[in-house]
Amino acid sequence: MTEPVLQVAVPAPVRRRFDYLPPRPGWTPPVRPGMRIRVPFGRTSAIGVVVGVAATSAVDVARLRRAREVIDTEPLLDPATLKLLAWASGYFQHPIGDVVTGTLPRLLRLGHAPEARRSVRYVATAAGERAFAETPGREGAGAFARAPVQARLLGLMLAGGSVSEAALAAEHREWRRPLRALVAKGLAEPRDDPPRAVGTVARDGAAGADAKAGVTGKDGTTSGAAGRPELNADQQCTVDALRASLGTFRPFVLEGVTGSGKTEVYLRVIEQVVACGRQALVLIPEIGLTPQLLARFQARLSCRVEVLHSGLSDGERLSAWTHARNGTADVLVGTRSAVFAPLARPGLFIVDEEHDLSFKQQDGFRYSARDLAVVRARDAGAPIVLGSATPSLEAIDNVRRGRYHHLVLPRRAGGASPPRIDVVDLRSRPFDNGLCDVLIEAVEEVKARSEQALLFINRRGYAPRLLCHACGWVADCGRCDAHLVLHHADGRLRCHHCGAERTPTAECTECGSRDMRHLGFGTERVAGALESRIEGLRVARMDRDATRRRGALEAVLGRVHAGDVDVVVGTQMLAKGHHFPNVTLVAILDADGGLFGIDFRATERMAQLLLQVAGRAGRGDRPGRVLLQTHHPNHPLLRTLVLDGYRKFCEDALDERRRTRLPPYTSLALVRAEALQRDATQSFLRDAGACARARPHPRVSVLGPAPSPMERRAGRYRAQLLVDAASRTALQRFLPGWIAELEALPSARKVRWSVDVDPQEMV
Ligand code: ADP
Ligand code: ZN
Ligand code: ZN
Repeated sequence: MTEPVLQVAVPAPVRRRFDYLPPRPGWTPPVRPGMRIRVPFGRTSAIGVVVGVAATSAVDVARLRRAREVIDTEPLLDPATLKLLAWASGYFQHPIGDVVTGTLPRLLRLGHAPEARRSVRYVATAAGERAFAETPGREGAGAFARAPVQARLLGLMLAGGSVSEAALAAEHREWRRPLRALVAKGLAEPRDDPPRAVGTVARDGAAGADAKAGVTGKDGTTSGAAGRPELNADQQCTVDALRASLGTFRPFVLEGVTGSGKTEVYLRVIEQVVACGRQALVLIPEIGLTPQLLARFQARLSCRVEVLHSGLSDGERLSAWTHARNGTADVLVGTRSAVFAPLARPGLFIVDEEHDLSFKQQDGFRYSARDLAVVRARDAGAPIVLGSATPSLEAIDNVRRGRYHHLVLPRRAGGASPPRIDVVDLRSRPFDNGLCDVLIEAVEEVKARSEQALLFINRRGYAPRLLCHACGWVADCGRCDAHLVLHHADGRLRCHHCGAERTPTAECTECGSRDMRHLGFGTERVAGALESRIEGLRVARMDRDATRRRGALEAVLGRVHAGDVDVVVGTQMLAKGHHFPNVTLVAILDADGGLFGIDFRATERMAQLLLQVAGRAGRGDRPGRVLLQTHHPNHPLLRTLVLDGYRKFCEDALDERRRTRLPPYTSLALVRAEALQRDATQSFLRDAGACARARPHPRVSVLGPAPSPMERRAGRYRAQLLVDAASRTALQRFLPGWIAELEALPSARKVRWSVDVDPQEMV
């Protein structure tokens, strides 16, 4: 009798599987696909996943090595998940071992058992609530005169319902002793029942503001009916259509302006799915996972909601993954990588803000979580909802071709009126530090009415260029083709691409002149200018610099919700998912940035960003106003967007893509290479191009090599080769054979190279 050959995905950057024999002849029970095994690999060993069991091998069976150990007694990955992973590896041209093992939670990669770690949570007791209420100013007074940390921990429990140890640890580094004291005094207690979600809690300000707006209950444990608004007619139609499709594969594009009640629709359909004993997977953008969103899900759904994102500890990730896999979780809310979590009973897939760039991984395994979710829904026979206020051109095109069903929520829910968009012509207008007179007046009015404003500028730091006015010298990064950005807070010049930094000199290094000028403006400069222009204005900054510290983002959000801030100046962080009911003015300081981008998607992205930012205005009972500062008020794209709306804009943009033969009317792949020597990238890509031309494919052409838009980055030269195919199928037929040839090229060993299928950024 011959032994079974185990085909194993091993964590290695090699585009193939490796064959092994079971640990011993006659091994029982049989090894099945989806089980982890430890195998000898090179001179060490590795933990891989069995992806197939065969009778023979392409290698002489007598020469196969034996696995060292079978780790699982049951398959860790079910056939559906294995199938998805294999598909993803093939479609995105990424090594199977890296795909299968790289998408597992770290503890599973290390061989741990798939088990849910119990995480202890704490709640305030009735006595704790009284003691807290009697404490004026909350911190360091009354009963907590000498125990301010205890007061803070207790406040956190009262704001968030039950609170995980991780959240307590995030609140204060020395949390264990004050917590023990609270428990000893009977003011707080551990709770046994399972958490509604792991990892994040609503903070004081955020939860309080939502409760006022009637969105969530104040603690995470209110019953399912808390704050459940009556659906309007559009929402009802949408919910009906989605409910009717449960149990079959159907892709939907849910196009609803910001605030139109999409999340409400998701919640209603999820309720139904869970009532039928099925699970829902909800994918959200990287930055959109706000405490508010989670609190809302937890408060509204009386079922078990788990979250999966990069901010969790290894144990928390493993728990959430395990609960999804064994079915104890009813709803899994997660960022990109959650698309790979196995589901015991999948019934519904949702991708919220489907146009968002963060669904595409931009390095390593370059997959699109949105597109994989569609594949998954098809395999599972379940509906999928791609929701957005600004659907991607791909989604719109699928609707136009009749492949996806279109659901529309044209109006804001709860009667809020859409914001008015005013294009401000900057030409020959007073303009200082990024702010024109119209904008300053508008901010003053907002302040006078005790409302709030969001100012959006897609650049952090103080000034993006430091220039010598005498000789024209500009401070550049020595390692990248980029200018250094001046940061005022610490007085440093910083490269936003490689992280290099230095202290600027008072004199020009070229000519010695002291006439150094700061050109352009970033968030820091705008915030400072506002503070000095408007007396008593309270300005907060929201960008990567201001929110780097753990908890800092929540702190800013809390201050905005509490009304302690008049104006927030921020980067695209502002555009995502935050609910600010008191905001009535939104300004886009530099609308021109996206009009002249080099990437063919630049205009699409800019339109989406404009509308997403604009969608932050006037969500409450007051109407909002949007100011767009531009030097090109007659730009056709801007005019279409402002006068005719997003739909017309998309139609024009799609027509242009068709004319210029760009996606979604063609299919692209990008091979990127980088090396310390420019010649190395050139010779590899030239060889790659030659391979492609030697295997001519009628519907595929290869363009390049060309230098990348930023040719030098972090000291390396970068170049790329573009594969342009008439269709997905043509591209998918062409790539595997060609990539295999590239792997074998001698010149490939002198560069770092990668393949990006359906690239979202051409840089
Ligand atoms: P979106 O996800 O499209 O931005 P949301 O679902 O968050 O929209 O709804 C926006 C606001 O309107 C929320 O405060 C929500 O509670 C409220 N809302 C949603 N649907 C209704 C409704 N039918 N009636 C009243 N308020 C609603
Ligand atoms: Zn100079
Ligand atoms: Zn640099």
